[in-house]
Amino acid sequence: MHDAIVIGGGPAGLQAALTLGRMHRTVLLLDSGQYRNGTVQHMHNVIASDGTPPAEFRATARAQLAEYRDAEVRDLAADDVTGTEGGFTVRLSDGSAERTRRVILATGLADDLPDVPGLGDLWGTRAFGCPFCDGHEHAGRPIAVLGAAPRAAHLIGLLGRIASSVTAYPIGAAYTDEERRMLEAAGAAVSSRAVRTVAPAGDGVSVTTDEGASTVAGVFVASGSLRQRAPFAERLGLRMLESGAIEVDDFGRTSLAGLSAAGDLAHRAALPGPMASVIAAAAAGQLAAVGVVQSLLAE
Ligand SMILES: Cc1cc2nc3c(=O)[nH]c(=O)nc-3n(C[C@H](O)[C@H](O)[C@H](O)COP(=O)(O)OP(=O)(O)OC[C@H]3O[C@@H](n4cnc5c(N)ncnc54)[C@H](O)[C@@H]3O)c2cc1C
Repeated sequence: MHDAIVIGGGPAGLQAALTLGRMHRTVLLLDSGQYRNGTVQHMHNVIASDGTPPAEFRATARAQLAEYRDAEVRDLAADDVTGTEGGFTVRLSDGSAERTRRVILATGLADDLPDVPGLGDLWGTRAFGCPFCDGHEHAGRPIAVLGAAPRAAHLIGLLGRIASSVTAYPIGAAYTDEERRMLEAAGAAVSSRAVRTVAPAGDGVSVTTDEGASTVAGVFVASGSLRQRAPFAERLGLRMLESGAIEVDDFGRTSLAGLSAAGDLAHRAALPGPMASVIAAAAAGQLAAVGVVQSLLAE
């Protein structure tokens, strides 16, 4: 019987395991290797690790975790989670099962991109979603924003201070007159034609419409959607928020006693959505682990 099983080996899960290991609580971390920033070469806005490759960040975290006797990492997926506080069973992808007193879900979110040919290949290297993470690297150069208003207008507002110019391209149908006015008011030039394809061009991106192609330094995507990477929240009937994330309290506790959640997949109801960042995920992982340590102490 482990004290805790952490499902997920991104920043949230790694930090949760570190905190538990340091408190001499036996913890098993499971990692299926599907990281939200899996295609990213350099992460940003991470103090003391600004520009570090995420793979290097994870490798360093794992090397540091290996120093703790009570922390174990296995590169296996969790297939199922059943049980209640004090006695959960986690079924692993190798057919084995592990028992644990507490569970921390840190399985993250997956990005469903809009259907624009070429976009998937550029995701994380020249196509992004978050100006805080990847805006500054395009300073003084032209940027394209693809997809739906009003999200596009929000991105334009943030990127307008950084880029030399921003052009908004609709996906599928053209923008309505009202949307066009909103995007222009935010500071963008607005394409009357929908984006057809995106492709690498030099160190930038070629954006093609029916009228021709323009080259920009990078593209930011305003359409698409997020979903839970793993099925556990739905299967366990956890209370969810409108954003599609799991509702948690300040210590990452979900509506199911003994099961916590940390990272992109969860947030407090007071926030409008997940604060998707490496630092925020790690902080949530630490808080969830502290909550677990406290609850075990109270038993
Ligand atoms: C293109 C892009 C660029 C980004 N750039 C930055 C940046 O520069 N700076 C920044 O701060 N943030 C950046 N982010 C956001 C950042 O990647 C996330 O906020 C962060 O990774 C969230 O951490 P997490 O631990 O919650 O989830 P993740 O990092 O997604 O980790 C989820 C973990 O759960 C595991 N998992 C899922 N299902 C299972 C299962 N069934 N069994 C076992 N393991 C499972 C996965 O394998 C993975 O280990 C970027 C995101 C994207 C999409």
